[in-house]
Amino acid sequence: MITVITFNPSIDRLYKLDKFEIGSVQRANFVNPTAGGKGLNVAKVLKKLGEDVNCIGFLGGFNGKYIKSELDKIGIKNNFTQIKEESRICLNIIDSNNKSTEILESGPNITKEEIDEFENYLSEVLEETEILVASGSLAKGLPKDYYLRIGNLCRQKNIKFILDSSGESLKLGINSKPYLIKPNIDELENLSKVKIKNVDDIINISRSILLKGVENVCVSMGKDGMVLVNKDFVYKVEIPNIKIVNPVGSGDSSIAGFSLGTLKGYDLKDTLKLSNACGMSNAMHISTGDVNLEDINKFIDEIKVYEYVCNV
Ligand code: ADP
Repeated sequence: MITVITFNPSIDRLYKLDKFEIGSVQRANFVNPTAGGKGLNVAKVLKKLGEDVNCIGFLGGFNGKYIKSELDKIGIKNNFTQIKEESRICLNIIDSNNKSTEILESGPNITKEEIDEFENYLSEVLEETEILVASGSLAKGLPKDYYLRIGNLCRQKNIKFILDSSGESLKLGINSKPYLIKPNIDELENLSKVKIKNVDDIINISRSILLKGVENVCVSMGKDGMVLVNKDFVYKVEIPNIKIVNPVGSGDSSIAGFSLGTLKGYDLKDTLKLSNACGMSNAMHISTGDVNLEDINKFIDEIKVYEYVCNV
């Protein structure tokens, strides 16, 4: 089964405004609170695709209760470790041109006892996990190399570890040799400290990451699709033009598609098609982690995956 870790879940509140102006009173004509956090977006999309997942991590306070109730409502199995502090709220403000401004709280602090409790449960849950997806930032109080530790546990137990994070936690987590990392261009530039100009740059940087033992480096490029690099192949994914509504959560949705394709034993090309189709479908919806199965099937037929010949 697929287990999804979200250390720092949130209530995501989406406000639709005609015009977003700093320093004046704003009236929202649409508000949509949902259970959010990158891992929960992954879980929601997997649920839509018909796959049962187990969501783990930390939840606390009234916000935590709300998040749990939202997951229960849509039938997503969740076994979060309860914490004393309040889970966070994040805002996404979208104007009439679909321009998005996000305000993200840093979230609660996790105590040593809460970490111990989580780890006891994690060792139990890993016994029935084939793929472990870890998405998003680490919560305060967790060691900076926590994804490295979790990745090492997965390696010992032959579990495929998919790590979708950024910054220091991604950099350290890579040393556990994850099955997949999925940076976007900004995250890859941040990781490599190289300004990316073209696909060849992406491939070169990805190859240097493979040397650290990562099995697949999948770089998502928004409307330009994806590039996947592993020791045998470089695949480039080309996607059709679509009318987007809200691309927040597209990366998480593409992780959901990738995990499901992997779990079902699809070959890499089909896995990439499913992954991109999920990202695209999410971008067409106002809510994050929301996809439509008919659109996904249509996109799968339209997406092209081909082996890329590197010019350098
Ligand atoms: P992230 O959310 O991590 O930044 P991306 O924005 O690259 O990730 O999106 C992940 C995937 O979702 C892309 O590879 C693509 O398949 C799809 N996607 C995202 N934005 C768009 C868009 N504007 N048009 C079409 N597809 C998109």
